[in-house]
Amino acid sequence: MRLLLVEDDDHVAAALSAILARHGFAVTHARNGEEALQAVLPTAQGDRPSYGVILLDLGLPDQDGYQVCARVRKLTTTPVIMVTARSDVRSRIHGLNLGADDYVVKPYDTGELLARIHAVARRSPGPADDAAGPAGSPGSAEAGVLRLGAVAVELPTRRVSVDGEPVALTRKEFDLLALLAQRPGVVFRREQIISEVWQTSWEGTGRTLEVHVASLRSKLRMPALIETVRGVGYRLVAPAA
Ligand code: CA
Repeated sequence: MRLLLVEDDDHVAAALSAILARHGFAVTHARNGEEALQAVLPTAQGDRPSYGVILLDLGLPDQDGYQVCARVRKLTTTPVIMVTARSDVRSRIHGLNLGADDYVVKPYDTGELLARIHAVARRSPGPADDAAGPAGSPGSAEAGVLRLGAVAVELPTRRVSVDGEPVALTRKEFDLLALLAQRPGVVFRREQIISEVWQTSWEGTGRTLEVHVASLRSKLRMPALIETVRGVGYRLVAPAA
C-alpha cells in the first residue's frame, strides 16, 4: 500500500518511514502543506496518485494542518489520519468535521498507529474508486456519523437523534456523548472526561459530570446507554441495532 506521510520533522519522518516500510508500506514523504497538496494532485498526464492512506501531522511550518486536511479532502477520498499533540475532544471533532477519518494523538504507540492505518484502509473504497471524487464516494453521507443502535451522533452538525427523532443537547452534553461514543465499550476515567470536555482539572467541578451523565441518560431515554464504572469513570454500552 502506498502511504503519504506529511511530517515536517525529518527525524520523526525517517523513523516512522522505516517502521512503515518494514510493514510493507511504500512511503512518500511531504515536508509541508504545499508538498502534501502537490502530492495528491493529478499529474500532468492526468494520473491520480493512489495512496491507500494519508498520515497528516497537524503542526506544519507553512499552513494550518486543519486547512491542509480540508483541501486534501476536496482533492481525494483517500482516508486521512490526523496526527497531533492536541488531544482535547474539540480539536478531534474539528478534525473529523474537516473530513479526517481518524485522529492519533502524540506520543502514540506504533502498534496502535499501524492498526488504525489498516482499519481506515479497510473501510475505504480504495484508490481505484477515487476518480469518482469525494461527492460520489459510497458512504460519504455517513462521514462523521457515529451510530449506536438507535442513537445517531452527527459530529459535523453536532446533531443527535434517537430512532430518527432529534434530541436537543447542550454543548457539553454533546461533547460528552461524542467523546464516549467514539470508543464504545472503552472506560473513560472521570479525570480524563473532565479534562477533555471541560478542559479543566478535576478540582472545583463538583458533580458537573454526574449531572451531565444523568441528563444524557434521561434525554436519550436510554438509562443503560452510559454505564457507571464505580470508582473509575464511565463507558458507553453500544446497544444492539
Ligand atoms: Ca510537526
